[in-house]
Amino acid sequence: MSGPDWIICEHCDSVYAPVPLVRGEASRCARCGAILEHGGRLSIQQQLALAISAAILFVFANVFPVITISLQGMSNGATLWESVEALAQGRITLIAAVAGLAIILAPMLQIILLCWVLSFALGGHAAPGFRRCMRALEHLRPWSMLEVCLLGILVAIVKLSGMLDVHPGVGLWALAMLTVLILLISGKQVRRLWDDLEDRIP
Ligand SMILES: [Zn+2]
Repeated sequence: MSGPDWIICEHCDSVYAPVPLVRGEASRCARCGAILEHGGRLSIQQQLALAISAAILFVFANVFPVITISLQGMSNGATLWESVEALAQGRITLIAAVAGLAIILAPMLQIILLCWVLSFALGGHAAPGFRRCMRALEHLRPWSMLEVCLLGILVAIVKLSGMLDVHPGVGLWALAMLTVLILLISGKQVRRLWDDLEDRIP
C-alpha cells in the first residue's frame, strides 16, 4: 500500500488516490457518495484568525444574556451558564451535566486546542502534545452541540413570544456566529495539519 497519501472514505472504507482540486470542487466516494475532500482550503493564518474570533465570541455568548424575557415591566435575562445552572437546581442534574458538556465545556476545549495547535503550526512547528490534541479535537467534535442549543433557543423564542415579550440577547448573536465558526474550523480543515506537519511531529 505504498504510494501517494491515500484517502480513505470515512463511511465505507474505500481507498482512493487523491486528485488535485480547485476551490469550490469536491471529490466524492464512487461507492457511497460521501464527500472525500474539498478543494481550496483556508491558510493556517486564516484558521488561527477564525479560532481567535471563536474564542472572543465564546466569551460574548457566555457573558451576555442569550434571551431576555419581559413581563409587566419586569425583565429577566439568562446567559448560557445561568441556564445550565438553573437546570442543575432541579431534579434533572444529569441533564444539566450533559448540557454543560455539550454547550460550554466541549466548545471551550475545542477552541483552546485549536488555538494551541494552530499558533504553533503558524511558525511551522508541531505543538507540544500535537498527536494528543488532534485526537482530542476529533473526539470532542460529536460532543460539541452548539447548533442543537441554538435551534432550541430559537424554538423557545418563537414559542414564548405568543405569551411573553421575548427578545434575543447579544449572547444569541454571538452564539449563532460561534456555531458557524466552529463548524467551519473544527472539521476537515484542521485534519490537514497532519499532512502539513507530517515530518515535524516528534
Ligand atoms: Zn464511501
